[in-house]
Amino acid sequence: MEKFEVHILGCGSALPTLRHNPSAQVINLREKLFMIDCGEGTQLSMRRNHLKFSKLSHIFLSHLHGDHVLGLVPLISTLSLLGRTQPLHIYAHAPFEELMKPWIDFFCHSVPFSVEFHTLPKDNALHLIFEDRSVEVHTIPLSHRMASCGFLFREKAPLPHIRRDMIDFLHIPVYEINRIKQGEGWTTEEGEFYPHERLTYPAERGRSYAYCSDTSFCPLNAPLLSGVDVLYHEATFSKADGPRAAQTCHSTAEQAATLAKNAAVGRLVIGHYSSRYEDETLLLNEASEVFPHTELASEGMVIQL
Ligand SMILES: [Zn+2]
Repeated sequence: MEKFEVHILGCGSALPTLRHNPSAQVINLREKLFMIDCGEGTQLSMRRNHLKFSKLSHIFLSHLHGDHVLGLVPLISTLSLLGRTQPLHIYAHAPFEELMKPWIDFFCHSVPFSVEFHTLPKDNALHLIFEDRSVEVHTIPLSHRMASCGFLFREKAPLPHIRRDMIDFLHIPVYEINRIKQGEGWTTEEGEFYPHERLTYPAERGRSYAYCSDTSFCPLNAPLLSGVDVLYHEATFSKADGPRAAQTCHSTAEQAATLAKNAAVGRLVIGHYSSRYEDETLLLNEASEVFPHTELASEGMVIQL
């Protein structure tokens, strides 16, 4: 199967600790890298995780709190010094472009590539914001102290596998194989028709990954997230700190797990821990009681889909 993996570079919340970096992840989907959030120090974590800058072209920012975006200027400065030429696409809410341009102009002199800003929609809905031949990226409506959205990565189903035995048996020329993969059948010289299904094995289904941070509990998102393979959800607080979660528009571990359960996702990975917890086992236990397939995110973790 082709690569679809998520590298956790940072899963702490705003107050820095020595144990966790601020939010950042990199998705490797068929050798193309997509970044979600870019907290302070992200470029260093990329190096530590042996992720190649040259393969990164799209960065998605969930919202404009500093712990999700302050690693971006240093990253662009480095890309610039490395002599990058291909464009870099940044997806963020307004007024990010306005805020960033003077910083890029001042600190990243004569950037040799174009930085293309894409403004994320403000309304709380599911939008398709990016698509190529391997993946679709949709926004997920979230509720935070400012405009915020999650991201849903849906891999497009690969093309079916060709049945070599049938191709050989029917003497189908090589130049016809691509058409058959795309869904065509084949008619022999004697006029016998072989439908596409007899000439191929079905492809694996497309995999999916959802990222939800930062947000208060959004139970209405369950249908949007229904059946995703892996859900990363913030679990900033424990049950006992529920009032603090509500006040700051964050979620508890139990709420993250409730959403995972209601959406019947494959696995839940929790993160964005408040610095008040010395040990996140408490959060893991609270989530696992509701949804057993829960794991704690940690820096350097690679989630295989
Ligand atoms: Zn935030």
